[in-house]
Amino acid sequence: MKDRKIRVRFAPSPTGPLHIGGVRTALYNYLFAKHHDGTFILRIEDTDQTRYVEGAEEYIMDALKWAGIKPDEGVREGGAFAPYRQSQRKGIYQQFALKLLASGDAYYAFDLPEELERIRKEYESRGETFNYGSATRMQMCNTLTLSDEEVKIRMAAGEHYVIRYRMPENEDIHFSDLIRGDIVVNSSTLDDKVLFKSDGMPTYHLANIVDDHLMEISHVIRGEEWLPSLPLHVMLYRSFGWEAPLFAHLPLLLKPAGKGKLSKRDGDKMGFPVFPLFWPYGETATGYREEGYFPEAFVNMLALLGWNPGTEQEIFSMEELIAGFSIERVGKSGSRFDPEKAKWFNTRYFQMKSDEELAELFMPIVEEKGFSPGHDTLVSIVSLVKERVGFVKELWNEADFFFVAPDSYDPDVVRKRWNADSPLQMRELREVVSGVKPFTSETLEKRVKEWIAGSPYNTGTILNLFRLLMVGASRGPHLFDIVGLTGRDETLRRLDNGIRRLAPALS
Ligand code: GLU
Repeated sequence: MKDRKIRVRFAPSPTGPLHIGGVRTALYNYLFAKHHDGTFILRIEDTDQTRYVEGAEEYIMDALKWAGIKPDEGVREGGAFAPYRQSQRKGIYQQFALKLLASGDAYYAFDLPEELERIRKEYESRGETFNYGSATRMQMCNTLTLSDEEVKIRMAAGEHYVIRYRMPENEDIHFSDLIRGDIVVNSSTLDDKVLFKSDGMPTYHLANIVDDHLMEISHVIRGEEWLPSLPLHVMLYRSFGWEAPLFAHLPLLLKPAGKGKLSKRDGDKMGFPVFPLFWPYGETATGYREEGYFPEAFVNMLALLGWNPGTEQEIFSMEELIAGFSIERVGKSGSRFDPEKAKWFNTRYFQMKSDEELAELFMPIVEEKGFSPGHDTLVSIVSLVKERVGFVKELWNEADFFFVAPDSYDPDVVRKRWNADSPLQMRELREVVSGVKPFTSETLEKRVKEWIAGSPYNTGTILNLFRLLMVGASRGPHLFDIVGLTGRDETLRRLDNGIRRLAPALS
């Protein structure tokens, strides 16, 4: 193993959109590969035609691309071990199944699915579970129990068959996992798994082992749900006489409440995305991308769901994750997914972006609303409101009044601030404001405050009313910044409108 090159793979089955747990598996494979200057491979495991879902393969590749997890070899990238889609490797697997048949480690089984179902039910009615394995296989219909002649006849007649692995009886299988440590399983507890089906397709177990071997995979890093398959995989490597890769089974992602596996259905039910991208087919589901998460924030959040850097540091760039990642620091127990923490990460990344970057991301939203501010104006607006925000899409709610005059006035503020003196005060303010040159935040503030100081009016009263007429409420950043960016003409228009529309409130 020592001089083996580091080659890892993410091997999803295209059975639907990739859940964030799947993205985390891909990410850990990627980080591990890059940390060791190794190769990260994306292999599509689509041998189970009954579970194939249109669009899922594209989705997986697009999701990884969005997250910045870039395969070195894969369906889109190609590579020396192509093809990377198992359905295109169909011709490869049969010879390996035949090898196992020849060595006696596998056998043909002719039991019909209906017959197996009947036996299963019979066992169930006695409160037992049926296992096709060392304890039962000699009572079943297979090459271990039929004569050569019978087998020939059945084959010639094109009867349904599968090839099963012949699990040894009562043997302790020792193996180890980089996260779980040493494990022993007695082979009698395992069944004789189907490796090959009469439709000419291998099952997951055979195709997975053959491809990991042929693609020279050094480490298999995958979800914990595959741990029960590991003894079989270890046995298969042994039967083929191949050196097995090292294994690391990642702990589960748990529901926010902490109990149970985070499932595909939890997201929309609990109001947060569990998918990286929007999934438009079948049961539609929201995605982190469409919810406005930055891919860097998403990746940072996922990386820390299971991997512990051993320090207090929480914000990691992809480069820092690559530099720091190690399997030894992946915990054994499940990690609770916290949607609030996901938002927290996004807010941190949002705050780290420059005003220019944020303005560029905000521009399309503003344009869609029908406005076309200059780049510099938008940069200034963003700089004023960004501290209250964690997502680009939230900017509009904090900045709408820079573009749109108020169409109503907060009744609470009106009740508290607007009185019989207000129209006159605002008319005087209008006079002052109309003469300010240059029309900037600083000059406006200086001139308006000078005027108030020389008037009988109270600063708080005037500024609160001014804000009410500019914004329609008591929210927003520094008032004179708003006025300066709104511009003279629009400011005067808002003052005129406010005086006209609020005057009747007194009567
Ligand atoms: N095709 C399996 C899946 O969908 C791959 C499991 C493995 O990595 O071995 O997760």
